[in-house]
Amino acid sequence: METPESKLVEQLKAIAGEEAVFVDEPMSAHTTFRVGGPADVLVMPRTADEACRTVSLVREIGCTLYIMGRGSNLLVADAGLRGVVVQIASNLSDISVGEGGVVVAEAGASNSKIAAMARDAGLAGYEFAAGIPGSVGGAAIMNAGAYDGEFKDVAIEVTCLDSQGAIVKLAPDQAEWGYRTSAIDRLGLIVLSVKLQLHPGDPSAIQARMDDLASRRQSKQPLDKPSAGSTFKRPPGLFAGKLIQDAGMQGYQVGGAQVSTKHAGFVVNVGGATAADVLQVIQDVQATVLEQQGVMLQPEVRMWGFE
Ligand SMILES: Cc1cc2nc3c(=O)[nH]c(=O)nc-3n(C[C@H](O)[C@H](O)[C@H](O)COP(=O)(O)OP(=O)(O)OC[C@H]3O[C@@H](n4cnc5c(N)ncnc54)[C@H](O)[C@@H]3O)c2cc1C
Repeated sequence: METPESKLVEQLKAIAGEEAVFVDEPMSAHTTFRVGGPADVLVMPRTADEACRTVSLVREIGCTLYIMGRGSNLLVADAGLRGVVVQIASNLSDISVGEGGVVVAEAGASNSKIAAMARDAGLAGYEFAAGIPGSVGGAAIMNAGAYDGEFKDVAIEVTCLDSQGAIVKLAPDQAEWGYRTSAIDRLGLIVLSVKLQLHPGDPSAIQARMDDLASRRQSKQPLDKPSAGSTFKRPPGLFAGKLIQDAGMQGYQVGGAQVSTKHAGFVVNVGGATAADVLQVIQDVQATVLEQQGVMLQPEVRMWGFE
């Protein structure tokens, strides 16, 4: 017998293609934490048009909609996600380098690929993002940043899908980027592509800067273990990692989730962690730091499916 769910799956396949729609798809396969239970349905649209039609259909039906990029800032519950996840990642990742240092990238393009293409074209300004393992859509939502750069420093336009199904182009003043925040996120817009303004530079100097930042990351961050990067936002004027260290929580472990022994600002999956383990570590760290230092750490990691 045909169920409403199977009808939705067929409709999604008609839009995005048979091989782009996955049922009961484990989110652990799509997040850098390597945890998370099954999503009812996960769709990987191949074009912006497919993404828009997929989103319209899911909204029309009234199903819960999740938009993800490369899953590098997500903690998904062990019970998974009821609804449809639309993944805007490698299937929607064209990058073009145009006149005057303008780079246009589809939302799923990886930051590292954009930085590498810009370098090859003799364009500087995106080196800071080369080691941020997400998509440029995720960078636009989060105003991703590292070392002395932030996404807002180079973005000149972001093309989005709004809640009414219209395409809107946002200028930087409309995007209202702040520390890991944006109006794009607050308004629930879906990023389809971005336009960046870079500046001329010598490819070997650009590469040297990327190498320097990569080795700084390598020496300080637990890149050999699954994580979602910095677990907590930086409290104004303070460092989350230092607060956690001073509270004696470095190395604290629940199941397979641990406050990294290399960088206390990262919760890592040391093997077989569940989302519940990670959440417990986050909550215990928050409680201890609050009790000892009077600071409530706010997660930077987005948590899905816990409600
Ligand atoms: C080892 C490691 C190091 C990291 N270092 C840094 C760092 O130095 N600086 C930093 O800022 N971050 C860092 N991160 C975190 C992460 O890479 C960034 O937050 C990144 O911008 C998230 O992009 P994503 O594509 O993976 O987004 P996801 O994790 O898939 O999603 C994150 C949020 O963005 C939304 N989103 C994603 N794509 C879209 C879209 N196209 N339209 C609408 N919403 C969308 C999702 O709904 C979700 O709310 C690190 C992570 C890891 C694992």
